[in-house]
Amino acid sequence: MSNYVIEAKSVEKTLGRGAGEVRALRGVDLSLRRGELTLLMGPSGSGKTTLLLVLGCMLTPTSGSVTVCGTSTSNADREKLAKIRREHVGFVFQSYHLFPTMTAAQNVQLALDIRHERGARAAKKSRAALEMVGLEQKADVLPGGLSGGEQQRVAIARALVANPSVVLADEPTSALDGKNGQSIMRILADTAHEHDRAVLVVTHDPRVVPFGDRIVEIEDGLIVEDRWGKTDRPRMPRTAPFGA
Ligand code: ADP
Ligand code: MG
Repeated sequence: MSNYVIEAKSVEKTLGRGAGEVRALRGVDLSLRRGELTLLMGPSGSGKTTLLLVLGCMLTPTSGSVTVCGTSTSNADREKLAKIRREHVGFVFQSYHLFPTMTAAQNVQLALDIRHERGARAAKKSRAALEMVGLEQKADVLPGGLSGGEQQRVAIARALVANPSVVLADEPTSALDGKNGQSIMRILADTAHEHDRAVLVVTHDPRVVPFGDRIVEIEDGLIVEDRWGKTDRPRMPRTAPFGA
């Protein structure tokens, strides 16, 4: 059994139709492992979001394969893909996506609700997830009463509450100032290192580079670089070297 949580092989993705057709991914190999925070960097339009959505089974590749926790997503229908997402993937987006009329705790608990986990146990788990991001004091506050950084921490708690194997974050710090961005990255790094999850952070924010155990650069739908970052995490050999 592979130690990779997600393995993408020879992934191509074409978006749009006819004259508007774009080859957003042109043959990408990328595997993510537990305990590692990977940064996916590249210019605007290079395919970062598309790759994140393909890895998270929100989009299916035009060709190539994606395997999540040993389950191949080839030939999976919408329902099966939704099941894989629910069981294994937590998403974090640039613009938090919180429901404005629900408290922080209710927003987090919603992620359990869709997994049919309800009642006192779900409420307790949601509080614990908020505690993990340092927001236990704000559990009963509506998003409108929270700063941007706090809202993003609620979104991270929501991504973590169902105990995913992988967390995929698309530009999670882009709307935040430096200090809040750093605190979000520290939480995501802890998520990888202390909670042994695979974490992928899509970013074009150079301030987050110090948090990357591994840095992958994408240009024009192709991975052009895959290197270790400057964190002091143990370096394990990769079984599928970049470009293989
Ligand atoms: P990034 O996140 O790196 O900015 P994206 O993955 O969003 O890049 O987009 C990659 C390319 O695909 C871009 O050229 C973008 O314009 C194009 N694209 C994204 N979504 C669509 C779509 N729904 N239809 C057509 N082209 C799209
Ligand atoms: Mg994007």
